[in-house]
Amino acid sequence: MNYETILIGGGLAGLTASIRLAQKGRRVLVIERKTYPFHRVCGEYVSNETRPFLQSLGFDPDAHGAANIQHFQFTAPGGRSLETSLDLGGFGLSRYLLDFELYKLAQKQGVNFLLGKTVERVEMLPDLDEFDVETTDGQTFRAPVVLGSFGKRTKLDTTLNRDFMKARSPYIGVKYHIHTDFPKDLIALHNFRDGYCGISAIETDRYCLCYLTTRENLRRHGSIPEMERAVLWRNSHLKRIFNESEPLYEKPEVINEISFAPKRAVENGILMVGDAAGLITPLCGNGMAMAMHGAKLAADLTDEFLSGKLTRESFETQYASTWRRHFAGRLWVGRQVQKLFGSERLSDVTAQAFGLAKPLLGAVIRATHGRPF
Ligand SMILES: Cc1cc2nc3c(=O)[nH]c(=O)nc-3n(C[C@H](O)[C@H](O)[C@H](O)COP(=O)(O)OP(=O)(O)OC[C@H]3O[C@@H](n4cnc5c(N)ncnc54)[C@H](O)[C@@H]3O)c2cc1C
Repeated sequence: MNYETILIGGGLAGLTASIRLAQKGRRVLVIERKTYPFHRVCGEYVSNETRPFLQSLGFDPDAHGAANIQHFQFTAPGGRSLETSLDLGGFGLSRYLLDFELYKLAQKQGVNFLLGKTVERVEMLPDLDEFDVETTDGQTFRAPVVLGSFGKRTKLDTTLNRDFMKARSPYIGVKYHIHTDFPKDLIALHNFRDGYCGISAIETDRYCLCYLTTRENLRRHGSIPEMERAVLWRNSHLKRIFNESEPLYEKPEVINEISFAPKRAVENGILMVGDAAGLITPLCGNGMAMAMHGAKLAADLTDEFLSGKLTRESFETQYASTWRRHFAGRLWVGRQVQKLFGSERLSDVTAQAFGLAKPLLGAVIRATHGRPF
């Protein structure tokens, strides 16, 4: 098969970009190292700014039982709590369902998939103006465009010698699906020492409980349950949730080495999309929206390039500058806000400040979100 675009990674960025390209009549291959459906560490709150795009792809979150989330609660470890309504709001849907449904939709649109295969090498062949993409089992595929939609961190980042891989990152993420008693229209962010934990409803009366903390915090306490009891439970809201919930799978999903460092949107001619281009701190609840928005921008420019309307150089520079314009500011604000939650005292002061100046909280939410696209 002669492909026009190869996407490395079939998360939200890869799946939505592939559908968009297939809708434009492009021959597309997605290479994904796992097989659908599968769980991922993610808070599973999706900003409503994504709804028009999802609709254009033929996906309606409400038809799959998405929770409709309109309110936000923020608590500090000392128990201070404040609530506000969200301008745009969002929906809750598990990644297990969302990614699987988008995969099925992509297949219907004619996207080709190679599942359970990991890409280990991408090479530009300057004479042919095409890329060779090789998987660990020795298969090679060729296409004029490669989109890097392989997420936060993968061996390929090392192969590509990307700057952010040169430093270790201290963050880990932990996720549960639970049954609990909690308002379905609320997303809460509960702070604790060296981390924060989000909870919000997803489909079928389930809730996603997901937190970010540091490897050091885990090391200090020896195990995830010990750390939760010793640190997370110091926030009374979290203690109640943990004590009054039923976990729905045996062990939580865990990932480590989560980096929020700036990345380059184009590396060795590969357009990076989603977390591969830059990961916003999870407390913003905007990573999935950014992944999908970036996918839309990349797919549209790819189509222009393949139609001969752009040279390769302007294809790459336009993507890099468009990406920066849409997302770099949000990432920066997200990093600054996350710094306020490092210590118990600081997050308590932050909660107090946001409580006194509610417009400030609204301004931070707006600065970390985009408009519907
Ligand atoms: C703790 C935490 C909580 C979060 N909560 C939220 C939230 O509530 N709301 C929100 O909007 N965002 C949230 N995010 C961010 C969100 O999860 C990401 O921004 C989003 O998943 C990015 O999608 P993606 O397609 O770029 O990457 P991913 O969804 O990670 O997909 C990348 C895919 O590439 C595949 N892959 C990797 N390497 C290779 C390879 N070499 N070959 C083949 N395949 C490969 C992987 O298997 C994976 O399927 C959270 C993030 C964290 C860490």
